Amino acid sequence: MTTLAGPDAGSTRILVVDDVPDNVDILDARLSSRGYQVVTATNGEEALASVADIPPHLILLDVMMPGMDGREVAKRIKEDDALPFIPIILVTALSEADDVVQGLESGADDYISKPYNFRELEARVRAMLRIKTLQDELDQKNRELELANRRLKKLSITDGLTELFNHRHVHELLQDEFDRSARTGESIAVVMMDLDRFKNINDTYGHPTGDVVLYETAQIIQESAREIDMVGRYGGEEFIAILPETDEEPGANFAERVRKAVEEHVYRDGATEIRMTVSCGVASIREGVDSPEALLKAADEALYQAKHGGRNKVVRASQTAPAAE
Ligand code: GH3
Ligand code: MG
Ligand code: MG
Repeated sequence: MTTLAGPDAGSTRILVVDDVPDNVDILDARLSSRGYQVVTATNGEEALASVADIPPHLILLDVMMPGMDGREVAKRIKEDDALPFIPIILVTALSEADDVVQGLESGADDYISKPYNFRELEARVRAMLRIKTLQDELDQKNRELELANRRLKKLSITDGLTELFNHRHVHELLQDEFDRSARTGESIAVVMMDLDRFKNINDTYGHPTGDVVLYETAQIIQESAREIDMVGRYGGEEFIAILPETDEEPGANFAERVRKAVEEHVYRDGATEIRMTVSCGVASIREGVDSPEALLKAADEALYQAKHGGRNKVVRASQTAPAAE
């Protein structure tokens, strides 16, 4: 067997579609003798089924067929985003000039007129396969790029230590939620949480143990949150939860769940066992508290009151000093 088609011919799959069995047989025999794997179909439906089953590397497609013609087959294949790039060469009678134009416009990549010279057909097949190789490489690069971009995007919004949203992204999310709330009229609650006397952990056990405490606290808060809630690391040992469609009272219930879970959790770093508590400030949208800044400020002031009031507490903004300004 000759290998004029190149070293890859053996793994190259060509679908030959023609309603005249003799035409199929001739191409099958000639392409097979060049080392290509040939699959065949004698109508449009069969061709589409074959492509869906195992996408070929190239299609030689008769235009004039009863039922679904070659133009329609080409159009459907090119419209299917799930398929890789499959070059389609139309095989058509010379008199079918209009069909060629329409065929190319419906997505076919090249054409050859019957009666064709097999060497020319083979050269066109090889040329198209070269283009496919380049296109496949491009598609692969694009997928890699997309993946890298997604990773980068995730990195840019994530706090490295706790894997929560970072400070900057929390502000973006809060603004988005305010925009949504302006449309829907739904409330938003914000909960600020700050570990009590956290500095002692670093001082007593060292910074790495402090990091473990921060990480585990982040997990506790995340697990207390609903799917739609957004949890972030707001500062060193300060966390924030943005709770959409939530008033102050349910916000306080969330904070209380976190407070209790932290109190009950035994933090472990090697043989070291640590107990912690957390103070929480809760605020939701109300009169005078109607911007992201005002909401953050109200929650922060409530947190301050919780610290001032002895720590390990949840304080609601509406129960502290009157709303700012
Ligand atoms: P309070 O109850 O008033 O909140 O006291 P506190 O000790 O928790 O608060 P303070 O603000 O005095 O100390 C916070 C400490 O958090 C100081 C800082 O070194 C530590 N810290 C900030 N970021 C990190 C971090 O990423 N890792 C570790 N291990 N410590 C951090
Ligand atoms: Mg025909
Ligand atoms: Mg603290």
